[in-house]
This record gives sequence, structure tokens and C-alpha cells, in this order.
Amino acid sequence: MTGKYIIALDQGTTSSRAVLFDMEGQIRGIAQQEFRQIYPNPGWVEHDPEEIWKTQVGVLIRVMVENAIKPSQVAAIGITNQRETTVIWDRKTGRPVYNAIVWQDKRTAPICEELKAKGLTDYVKHTTGLVLDSYFSATKVKWILDQDSGLRNRAMNGELAFGTIDTWLIWKMTGGQTHATDYSNASRTLLYDIVNLRWDAKLLDVLQIPHELLPEVRPSAAAYGHWTFDGVDIPICGVAGDQQAALFGQACFNPGMAKNTYGTGCFMLMNTGSHRHESQHGLLTTIAWGLEGTVEYALEGSVFIAGAAIQWLRDAMHLIDQAKDSEYFATKALGSNEVYMVPAFAGLGAPYWDMYARGAIFGLTRDTGKEHVIKATLESLAYQTKDILNAMQDDTRLKLSSLKVDGGASANNMLMQFQADILGTDVERPEVVESTAVGAAYLAGIQSGIWKKDDIIRKRKVQRTFKPAMSDSDRTNLYKGWQKAVKRTMQWTLEDKD
Ligand code: ADP
Repeated sequence: MTGKYIIALDQGTTSSRAVLFDMEGQIRGIAQQEFRQIYPNPGWVEHDPEEIWKTQVGVLIRVMVENAIKPSQVAAIGITNQRETTVIWDRKTGRPVYNAIVWQDKRTAPICEELKAKGLTDYVKHTTGLVLDSYFSATKVKWILDQDSGLRNRAMNGELAFGTIDTWLIWKMTGGQTHATDYSNASRTLLYDIVNLRWDAKLLDVLQIPHELLPEVRPSAAAYGHWTFDGVDIPICGVAGDQQAALFGQACFNPGMAKNTYGTGCFMLMNTGSHRHESQHGLLTTIAWGLEGTVEYALEGSVFIAGAAIQWLRDAMHLIDQAKDSEYFATKALGSNEVYMVPAFAGLGAPYWDMYARGAIFGLTRDTGKEHVIKATLESLAYQTKDILNAMQDDTRLKLSSLKVDGGASANNMLMQFQADILGTDVERPEVVESTAVGAAYLAGIQSGIWKKDDIIRKRKVQRTFKPAMSDSDRTNLYKGWQKAVKRTMQWTLEDKD
């Protein structure tokens, strides 16, 4: 192959990937490698940072070798990553002082409770846009420093460095030259003031996190140093957290544009432009990206159980052999049998926030078959998405013109059609559903002067648009049924008062 290429590194929770893009924004090669999930205790999840680095650099080299690309042909590298996961390492040796604590890890829940007891909930929400939860980096940093009194002193002396996974990879790739992150990743640490764009002194103080630990925060398209391979310096110049990168890759550049990723859970982000909305429904406010001298904001909502409900049909109920079979069975569900399945396996998230809710199936009659249950389970992904979108529209007063979709379950046509029907809005599935990698590649391409933001809009091809075909009254009635079903699952595990 001749010509120039951009490589996006997509460092995810279960695997490291490198995606090779040509100048047209088309994918020319992908290399992927899984790595170990470490579960030292119930509720704890760790990764080995060295393994993350080795698998990531391994797939980067592999995608070049397998596609016969010379380092001189690579114009730029972009990085997108699992967010919030926390690493602390020694600046001199480059060795981590502890394993990476993964976003899913719940060990710091008691620290969050202490912070709530100190009355910090509103402060955190207003300053960082987040809720006080173990999900984010701040309490993980504190926990690591609390393990050994020597660590905090070393941190104060500037001997240690903290980073999310982007920062760790940049440090490794530049041989310790660059200790930096981008706005989108910084905004997930629960230490970053997204209003004034600086690390927040009060939160650092409360958590006893020395400022010396922290990376410099740069725009998402910026110079992050070089990775030198075979004597060639390749610039690293695009960085964004995975969900924000996907929003960018889906070209959601204007306020009101939103994308939804249908994976194990659903992640929905809506661009709110320069306006920072504080949600009244428990959604998160986050920085979408820093670009062209300014930052843009987004609202974020997630569904805990989405594709996971399809896995449940397959692995626990044995109703299907493969996730994609759900579509076949759902189309076989005949009659006016309206069954609802509420997959509140682990409580309900936004906008309900009820940890006592549990899953249930409603509306069963003698002629309900497995196909009705499968259909209802698929539809639950669409209903939950509508719940979040309604909350976003209520918070922002922005009207969605079309929902851009990606992720494994977006391949399901029946689900996408139902999504369009129940939202009453177009649902747009792009040809390249690797939105996360696309976003990172374009950020790098913009910084290296190869692409402009508008090129994404021009090069992005829609594979299929699902248009709403349901009557308003059907939509209203079906959604009422869903809301009734959700209501009946709420507070399920709370003991009856009498
Ligand atoms: P993740 O990145 O969270 O692992 P993926 O984007 O790879 O998720 O999507 C996988 C999820 O999507 C699984 O939970 C699976 O059950 C679901 N899924 C995949 N294909 C389909 C399909 N055709 N119909 C419905 N669900 C699907």
C-alpha cells in the first residue's frame, strides 16, 4: 500500500485494538488482542497496566505489519480509551505502584459515602458535572495513596504520576516525555472543574490528592509528542474518552445531536454545545471535547442492562442460540399480545434511579410464547433509550432530529425500526459502526492538518435510516404500558411496610 494512513488506538475494557484508516476515512485493517481481567475481591476489578501497554503497542505494530505499512506512511496516531480507569506510576522507573483500578470497581463506595456525609454531593455535581460514585477516578486515586503512607509523600515530592489510560499510553509511547490528558478524559476523573477548566483545589484537598500527581490537560486535537518506531517519529495528536470519541465519530457536532451505543449497556450522549446543562434527572454533564480553542459539552445517560438482556435470553433462559437470533424470533411474535419485559436486574438507572427495582415480565396470557418474551426483551432496549432521551430533551429543551446509532445490537433491524417508531424520530445507522475509532482518527487527522471537521460529515456514509412508521396513538399507548410496567418493578426488594 502507498499513501498516508492514520491509526486509531482503541484501548477498551476487555481488549486493545488498533484500527488503520486511509485518507478517505475508510478502515483498511484492524488488529485486536484481549487482556486479563483481574478480580482480587468481590466487586473489585483491576487490569495490569503493563499488559495494557504491551497489548496496545503489540496491536499497533501488528496492524502496520499485516497491512505492509511503513512507519513513514503513518501520518498520525489517535487514542481513545476506556474512561475513568486509574493508574499511578513512578516517574523515574515508569513502573505502576498498583494495578489499574477499573471503572467498574466498587471498592471505593465507602469513600463516596464519606464525601456525601460531608455534604459534597451538590458541589461535585456543579463543579465536575458528575455524581459521587466509585465509577470515577478520584476515589480510586485516594484509595491507592491510602495503601501506603510513603506513596502520598512520594506523590507530594513529584515522584509519582496519575493518569487515566490515555495518559498512561501517551507516557509509555513518548518514553516519559509527555504527561498529559485531554479535556474529555479529565472531565471523568471527578477532580476536574468543567466550568473553569482546571483541576479543582477543594476536591484535591478533601481527597488528599497532591497536585503534583496530575497530568496537564490539553485539547482533544493537540500535540501529545511522538511515538518513535524504526527511527521514525509518528505524532500522537488526537485523544478522547471512548464515548466522546464515538460522539465525534458520529459527527454529532451541533447542539441537540445525539448518538446511542447499543452494547452490553447503552451509552447515550447528546451534544449541548457551549452550554453546560445540569440535569434534573440524574444524567451526567461532561466535556465532549476541546477543539479549536474551546470546549463543548454533552449530557450523558446510560442504560445498565441493554445487550446484557439479550445475553440473558441466550445464556440463562436458553431461548436463543445467538444474540442475532433475537431478531428472527421477534418478527414471529404475532397477535396483539402486549408483553413488557423490564430488565431491572441490578436496579434502575436514569431517569428512575431505584436500586431496589428488580426485573419482571408483564402482560402474560395463555397464548404468550417465547417469541413474545424475546420481542419484549428487545423492545426494552428501545424503551430504556426513550426514557433517557426524554430526560435529555427535558433538561436541554433541545429537540432531537435523528438518533445516530452504533454498537453490537445496532445491527438488529427489528430493534432499530422499533426504536424509530417509539421515538417518533429517524434512527441513522452509519456504514462504519466503529464510531469510537473513527472519532479518535479524525481528531488526529484534524490536528495534523489532513482533515477538517466537516470532512467527517462528508465522508460519513449512512448505511440505513429507519423512519418512524407507527401512529402517534400507538406510540403513546405502548409507551404508557412500558411506564406502567417500570413502575411496578420499583422498590421491589424493599420490605413491605405492613
Ligand atoms: P460491548 O462493547 O459492550 O462488549 P458490543 O458493542 O460488542 O458490546 O455488543 C455486544 C452486545 O450486543 C451483546 O450484549 C449482545 O447480546 C448484543 N447483540 C449483538 N448482536 C445483536 C443482535 N443482532 N441483536 C440484539 N443484540 C445483539
